[in-house]
Amino acid sequence: MEVYKFGGASVKDACSVKNVTEILRSQHEGPTCVVVSAMGKTTNALEAVLDAFYYGKEDKDDLLKKVMASHIEVLHGLFPDASHPVYGKAKALFGRLYEILGQVSGMSYDKAYDQVVSYGERLSTCIISASLEQDGIRNTELDASRLLLTDGRFREGKILWEPTGQRITAAVSEALADGKDIVLTQGFIACDQAGDTVTLGREGSDYSAAVFAYCLDASRMTIWKDVPGVLNADPKFFSNTRKLDYISYYDATELAYYGASVIHPKTIKPLQNKHIPLHVRSFMDVNESGTWIGLDDVKNSDIPSFICKKNQVLLSVYPKDFSFVDEMNLSEIFDCFVAHGVKVNMMQNSALSFSVCVDGHRGDMQAMLDQLSERYDCRFNGNLELVTIRHYTQEVIDRIAGTRQVLLEQRTRQAVQLVLES
Ligand code: ASP
Ligand code: MG
Repeated sequence: MEVYKFGGASVKDACSVKNVTEILRSQHEGPTCVVVSAMGKTTNALEAVLDAFYYGKEDKDDLLKKVMASHIEVLHGLFPDASHPVYGKAKALFGRLYEILGQVSGMSYDKAYDQVVSYGERLSTCIISASLEQDGIRNTELDASRLLLTDGRFREGKILWEPTGQRITAAVSEALADGKDIVLTQGFIACDQAGDTVTLGREGSDYSAAVFAYCLDASRMTIWKDVPGVLNADPKFFSNTRKLDYISYYDATELAYYGASVIHPKTIKPLQNKHIPLHVRSFMDVNESGTWIGLDDVKNSDIPSFICKKNQVLLSVYPKDFSFVDEMNLSEIFDCFVAHGVKVNMMQNSALSFSVCVDGHRGDMQAMLDQLSERYDCRFNGNLELVTIRHYTQEVIDRIAGTRQVLLEQRTRQAVQLVLES
């Protein structure tokens, strides 16, 4: 059994869906579980729809119509025959979505979010399954929101592995017994005990694929992307990027943790636990060798990797009573971060101060500062960058810092983190 994951960019229009068909035709060998995301930027669009319906905004119907129109365009591109049953199925999904949108004001925002935004993935698999079938690739569509059971935390469900494993193996073996060797399902979506839909967090489809791979004891998992593999830096921020041919699970986890956007951070652990190799490769060129991620630390590339987080704030706090920064102070400071949704990327303490580098665009910074200021003097610098370099050398650090001031620096044997002026 293999698991393939196709993200939004790989199924953004009719032409891309045809490309997925070609990939499956030429690449898959034996039973394959195919996990797909919502088409293109549908998840963002549905977030806007939800917002408009939840808060009763004027443009709510226009926003919904736009999402419908983009899917109808894909349908027209794939199914010239307007009487094809897929049109009825897509219409039914939109009907149900509309019904839910009429009920969202009675739900918590997070619950409403999951009930609504999950339709991106539902529409995507409905359309892709029919398109594959039309092109002679027999497949069974499985509803991931009945298979992946979570603890019920809306927008960040935590997988309950035992029952999820039982449901997945049962559903997939039944589907395969039917003589088909492709199972198609949604990423990102799951459910709770009550049967309500729960999502796994933005960009969670990689993680869904890893859940399927783990539960099915897959021989490998492949993430098909619009880049040739895992690069040593984001081409948006760095020139002369290089592809890494091989990285260990450990390195991949660290890269994701420090903010490399290529793989969802939670994806690696389930694969690592069962030694399932992960192949990250290009859906635009199947001849590219891609990147393999696996157990072997020795093959690990020592090419330096760079991860850049923009819009960082360096905050230093000093107890007003001149006490040392001790466990009591730290726990109070962290409670305050958690309460205001502020995300810490790096921290350092000295006797009389505690410094953190936090995302400037997340959480309620002002409310956090107001609360902290009662007991601490707070100083901060905004508009900074946090650059993490794995497998660094001094020469590489000097090149990245250039003439910019380094406000904070931290080193381990593997990685260095620099807070720099933008
Ligand atoms: N469609 C979801 C998102 O855009 C999940 C995913 O694509 O991974 O966040
Ligand atoms: Mg995605």
